[in-house]
Amino acid sequence: MSITDVIRKAQSEGSTRISYEMLPPLKGAGLAPAFEAVENLMPYDPAFVSITCHRYVTKASINERGETEYHSLRTRPATIGMASALRQRFGIEVIPHLICSGMSKYDIEDSLIDMDFLGLENVLALRGDKEKEADSYVAHPQGHEHAIDLVRQIREMNQGHFVDAQVDDCHHSRFTVGVAGYPEKHADAESIEADIKALKAKVDAGADFVITQLFFDNRVFFEYMKQCREAGINVPIIPGVKPLSTIKHLSLLPQTFGTFIPEALTDEVKRHADNPAAIQQIGAEWCISQIKELKEAGLPIVHIYTMGRTESIAKIVSQI
Ligand code: FAD
Repeated sequence: MSITDVIRKAQSEGSTRISYEMLPPLKGAGLAPAFEAVENLMPYDPAFVSITCHRYVTKASINERGETEYHSLRTRPATIGMASALRQRFGIEVIPHLICSGMSKYDIEDSLIDMDFLGLENVLALRGDKEKEADSYVAHPQGHEHAIDLVRQIREMNQGHFVDAQVDDCHHSRFTVGVAGYPEKHADAESIEADIKALKAKVDAGADFVITQLFFDNRVFFEYMKQCREAGINVPIIPGVKPLSTIKHLSLLPQTFGTFIPEALTDEVKRHADNPAAIQQIGAEWCISQIKELKEAGLPIVHIYTMGRTESIAKIVSQI
């Protein structure tokens, strides 16, 4: 089912459903832990589960002759396999993420064909991040500079246009395409206005919905929604939230995601610095009140970043 239909249905029923982001397992871990993680969420009727996509990294090793060898590998390779397995096992809707980083247009096309053949109808189109040691993002020589180029490639493929040829009389994929939005601005963007302009371009290129970066202050999200609507972005915008669960998150989350953590939450966490269980409880309560407010505002879907730790997430969702 297309995610836009999932959203429309929730809207028409006047309900707010919860969706979840999960990571594919580390190589060798198998699917059992992912199945267990989703099992915890099934009593709460997930709107969908999205599965992150991880770039190839370069690893150096010394071979028997003492020479340095470079390997391009992924530690979490199975985004498409996991998406398909979850859909088959649980009958839930899934969104595999697809990134441009380290991928040629041909690699991307092959991934899309696999998704299509597996009956996956939705995809989240992302640029992906720079390589760890690099100063900035560098596109694959035969790849894409920006997520908008990936959105265009998917739209073209839906029309039967492949990278190296147009195939008129062919099976057409029918992907619904999501993209990322940043209520607190993407790190590379000059201003929130420039970032919203880039988001508008992705939507004009054919994106059907937006999922946002995580945030802890709902006012930031409501202001972002307002600015997006004023800029003419009329597709659904799904807010992304994450429960803060350790004291390290106070520095790690702003550093990694450019997310502002409100003073009230920071102070409360610091007051319980030596009590990890209390911090987890504080983070959970904050997240519950965020979701309740988003629900009251009539948002049809709220997306939770789980990192696969779904036992604590299920407790949160049970209280909404
Ligand atoms: P883009 O839309 O290309 O934007 C990147 C930057 O370029 C922004 O600053 C934007 O303002 C600017 N920009 C966009 N278009 C143009 C243009 N035409 N000209 C000039 N500037 C432009 N990363 C992963 O590696 N794997 C994942 O699975 C993953 N999942 C994510 C899920 C969500 C919901 C979100 C919010 C992020 C996710 N990310 C993931 C992180 C994402 O890949 C990074 O934030 C990345 O740096 C930007 O990706 P993007 O798709 O927003 O890129």
